[in-house]
Amino acid sequence: MPPTGKSLLDKVWDAHSVRELPSGQTQLFIGLHLIHEVTSPQAFAMLRELGLPVRFPARTFATVDHIIPTGSQKRPLADSLAEEMLVALEQNTRDHGIRLFAPGSGKQGIVHVIGPELGLTQPGTTIACGDSHTSTHGAFGAVAFGIGTSQVRDVLATQCLAMARPKVRRIEVTGKLAAGVYAKDVILAIIRELGVKGGVGYAYEYAGPVIDAMSIEERLTVCNMSIEGGARCGYVNPDEATIEYLRGREYAPAGDAWDRAVAHWRSTASDPDAAYADRVELDGNALAPSVTWGINPGQSVAVDEKLPGITSVPEEGRAQLAEAFEYMGLRPGEPIAGTPIDVAFIGSCTNGRISDLREAARVARTGKVAAGVRTLVVPGSQAVARQAEEEGLPEVFRAAGFDWREAGCSMCLAMNPDKLVGREVCASSSNRNFKGRQGSPTGRTLLMSPAMVAAAALSGKVSDVREVL
Ligand code: SF4
Repeated sequence: MPPTGKSLLDKVWDAHSVRELPSGQTQLFIGLHLIHEVTSPQAFAMLRELGLPVRFPARTFATVDHIIPTGSQKRPLADSLAEEMLVALEQNTRDHGIRLFAPGSGKQGIVHVIGPELGLTQPGTTIACGDSHTSTHGAFGAVAFGIGTSQVRDVLATQCLAMARPKVRRIEVTGKLAAGVYAKDVILAIIRELGVKGGVGYAYEYAGPVIDAMSIEERLTVCNMSIEGGARCGYVNPDEATIEYLRGREYAPAGDAWDRAVAHWRSTASDPDAAYADRVELDGNALAPSVTWGINPGQSVAVDEKLPGITSVPEEGRAQLAEAFEYMGLRPGEPIAGTPIDVAFIGSCTNGRISDLREAARVARTGKVAAGVRTLVVPGSQAVARQAEEEGLPEVFRAAGFDWREAGCSMCLAMNPDKLVGREVCASSSNRNFKGRQGSPTGRTLLMSPAMVAAAALSGKVSDVREVL
């Protein structure tokens, strides 16, 4: 008998569908709209031109992350353009009665870090944000999309989006991760296996023993990079870990509403006999720490592997491979371990949470930053920074020679003073290694887990964290 159950994606989609549109898309109600300073000003301007209010200000929350400096966040910000953007966000949120988590609130941080930690991100809902990595929130069993500026306008004005329903691919990660292998290595391996466009038209449902055993923070790392594999969104079915994470959070339901919410959240998980458009299995036992060597997140190898030969891919992929080698200044067949680095960046919405900082600090305790390596340790939010301070992590990092900074996106995107210079090579715990991503048009990015970044900072070159821990 063919499977008759429903996936979480279908349940959430059906529950939020306002109507089917003649285009074949769905008019989808958005439960939570997260906004920030980069993609919202034009959307608010369009709203003003149209004379429209924000339809559901209470479902809309704002923070500042991309442009915020991680040195001094004293107002006015040193960069007048950044200050202007922050002032515009303050004005727009005030005008429309939207809650803004500004630096003075103590709750500011990267939009994909604060949503979960405040309990705004909840299972069984739809979430939109004008940022590609909104897929992060799927870790709770939410259907979460990154959207463009005109869609931000649409959600502000109507709380709805016109969206095509994605197919669902279930990705089961079996076995158990070895010590020194992290959620980042899992998602890099998935993207390497399926390709950066392999997820186009799909939502990824992550499952299996490795995902089940992950903390919510680790699941956030996996879901964060779904978009790097081309998927429209990625999610993990809500379970006990999800519920325990949300209990007592500022915006989580309380009292009777909590019990009703938990019952609803459980009911949104995929049915055991759910139908999937595709299924993929990955052996978690076989995974090793990964490092990207190229110019997209699919171009990665295990740290103890050699870089691919040009002829290892079909004819049509060879030009792309050659382009990556030329840009990165690396040679086919060489080991990635031992590649010298200039900068080490620990942070971002992929890996700027407290568990990431704890793992990096474990490594930092074992040595000193190598001479000539510039470092940035950037908590994903002010709450993460406070927690780290309570645990004495800034002192651990400083004692090893790392630079401890204030919360923000920092060098992930370099829309702030944290930038690569010239051809610098950066070991980075962020999510994109595109040409010029970290602020220098010729800068080079090697993506890896925060613990691997810390190990690279200590040795001055790409190193196997398993030999340090
Ligand atoms: S940390 Fe990077 S990917 Fe995440 S929201 Fe900021 S700029 Fe975007």
